[in-house]
Amino acid sequence: MTYNLLLLPGDGIGPEVMIETRRVLGWFSQNRNLSFAIEEDLVGGISYETHGVPATDQMMAKAKAADAVLFGAVGGPQWDKLPFEKRAERGLLRLRKDLELFANLRPALCFDALKDASSLKPEIVSGLDLLIVRELTGGVYFGEPRGISTLGDGSRRAVDTQVYTTGEVQRIARVAFELARLRGKKVASVEKSNVMHTGILWREEVQKVHDTEFPDVALTHILADNCAMQLVRNPKSLDVIVTDNLFGDILSDEAAQLTGSIGMLPSASLGAKDPKTGRQPALYEPVHGSAPDIAGQGLANPIACLLSLAMCLRYSFQRVEDARLLEQAVEHVLAEGYRTGDIMQPGMTKAGTAEMTNAILKALDKAA
Ligand code: NAD
Repeated sequence: MTYNLLLLPGDGIGPEVMIETRRVLGWFSQNRNLSFAIEEDLVGGISYETHGVPATDQMMAKAKAADAVLFGAVGGPQWDKLPFEKRAERGLLRLRKDLELFANLRPALCFDALKDASSLKPEIVSGLDLLIVRELTGGVYFGEPRGISTLGDGSRRAVDTQVYTTGEVQRIARVAFELARLRGKKVASVEKSNVMHTGILWREEVQKVHDTEFPDVALTHILADNCAMQLVRNPKSLDVIVTDNLFGDILSDEAAQLTGSIGMLPSASLGAKDPKTGRQPALYEPVHGSAPDIAGQGLANPIACLLSLAMCLRYSFQRVEDARLLEQAVEHVLAEGYRTGDIMQPGMTKAGTAEMTNAILKALDKAA
């Protein structure tokens, strides 16, 4: 089977980490009986410079046809003053909107070698591996009515509306349960059903999807404030967390902080699975931006992008063993002491973008 991949390196360090990802893709196709048909296109500032828009219709058509999109990063100060619709970041927003990517996946993985870099005690984060599944296209960031109005007495009033439908809750719950089957078969659903009607609906609908379609997965319900506490108290008690747009936004940043540098954090955004073909739109990207301050110097940490590829192998291609192989290779080089500048610690070996990938490729050779 050949997987169709669209690579969108973008701007700044995006192309630098994507070149390394291509090398690792090459390793998997040579050594692991995986075949990729790879296309590449422009997105963000570089697309604006070339075509006058941050995302062309042709690129969007390629993204829709691909089995998965690997995205680098977009943006830079030279495009900050452009009109809103032309800004580099609009390229990513159009991809999310047109591919209807409603599920955002943010893992928090703590590699043993970096456990001392966490703000929590090493024993609390060592071996941590949890996944936050955030609803991305609904809830209070989009609900109507919204806005600020002036009242008769001259004071002002602001309104945001938290709104969810059964369909929206059920589809994100399905994503979480399916992902849980590829991991520890454990889901924690997070809401505020003690004080919010959307929380009550959320809890009931997640429970329904569980009982009818995923009885083999263990489900617990946790209030959002308690979840925030558990993340810093006993994060290893959690595996897959499914939650709404607002709580997901906050909890995923909290979880990210458990693990150290932004140069280490992968993410994925998924759309609805076609019930007939099983195809699911998917975009994988490092959490970091284009890092203009270090772009063009060969200093960027490629690990966030490589771990995004590992997510792609696991979730889009169901190649769990290959995903693990790549994650273990990363773990191995960190244990050997290789560090890019963002995760540098005293006594370790400083590596640039390419040297870090060389070490990871060597570790893959050894493991295979
Ligand atoms: P950033 O993530 O680009 O950088 C923040 C800091 O982290 C910088 O000091 C940078 O050098 C460092 N850093 C980030 N990734 C790194 C890596 N892989 N290795 C080593 N160090 C790394 O965020 P920013 O500075 O706020 O934004 C820069 C540009 O990126 C802006 O134009 C912003 O709009 C854009 N941005 C894009 C995305 C995206 O494409 N998804 C996300 C965030 C920001």
